[in-house]
Amino acid sequence: MPDHPYQGRRVALATQHGKDRALAPPLARRLGLIVEAVAIDTDQFGTFTGTTPRAGTAAEAALAKAHAGMAATGLELGLASEGSFGPHPWLPFGAGGVETLAFIDAGRGLELTLSALSRCTNFAHHDVVGGGDIAAFLARIGFPAHALVVKGPDGDVLASGVQDMAALSALAWPGNRLETDMRAHLNPTRMAAIRALAGKLAARLAALCPACSCPGWGEVDLLRGLPCSSCNQPSQGVLAIIDGCGVCDHRERRPRPDGVTAASPASCDWCNP
Ligand SMILES: [Zn+2]
Ligand SMILES: [Zn+2]
Repeated sequence: MPDHPYQGRRVALATQHGKDRALAPPLARRLGLIVEAVAIDTDQFGTFTGTTPRAGTAAEAALAKAHAGMAATGLELGLASEGSFGPHPWLPFGAGGVETLAFIDAGRGLELTLSALSRCTNFAHHDVVGGGDIAAFLARIGFPAHALVVKGPDGDVLASGVQDMAALSALAWPGNRLETDMRAHLNPTRMAAIRALAGKLAARLAALCPACSCPGWGEVDLLRGLPCSSCNQPSQGVLAIIDGCGVCDHRERRPRPDGVTAASPASCDWCNP
């Protein structure tokens, strides 16, 4: 896409964790956007080990990081990612992961966040017991390609980023807890999820608003009221997708991509109250 407005533009990526490896390729390929990793202390926005609790939502945290990267570099474009792993208020499904990406274009007044739920996460922990075997846990979470955090009985972090069996053996005492290290550069599963979401962000930014030509045109809402196939009354099912612009008020309605035009009577409040 040689004529995209972001062709050759630089975007600041606030990260300590090598996320540019996952984020840069799709944005370069699709938009010609150049990702510049800027090392700021992202731990101030919350840590996975719980030493600094996160304030606000994942989208707010990602936007705050993106703004910090822009401030540090003076760039007009900013990018950041934020991961959330269950159990969590946003994750009613148990162990799952949500990756969130924030993109800011200060010149256009655009702030875009995208999230993707991933059931494929190695998020887990294991309490070491006397005479117990940790091998099954280590195999399940993908150690040593995926690192561990070791916590003491009172929850203090004894070591993080542990990817070495000798180091782990010295810490795997009864009463200690092993937790998956969710920092992206130590967690290939998470890095793959970020890469997939970066592809979606690139596609979203590639789409320009039909009214004002701003990048980031796409789904902003769902219109419910899919008619029941039996009684034709509106159900809670999705009737149409609402696309919108992050800068101007332009909105357009389009049909569901799966072609479904009627709801099953089983999901209808009238037929099946
Ligand atoms: Zn019905
Ligand atoms: Zn617009």
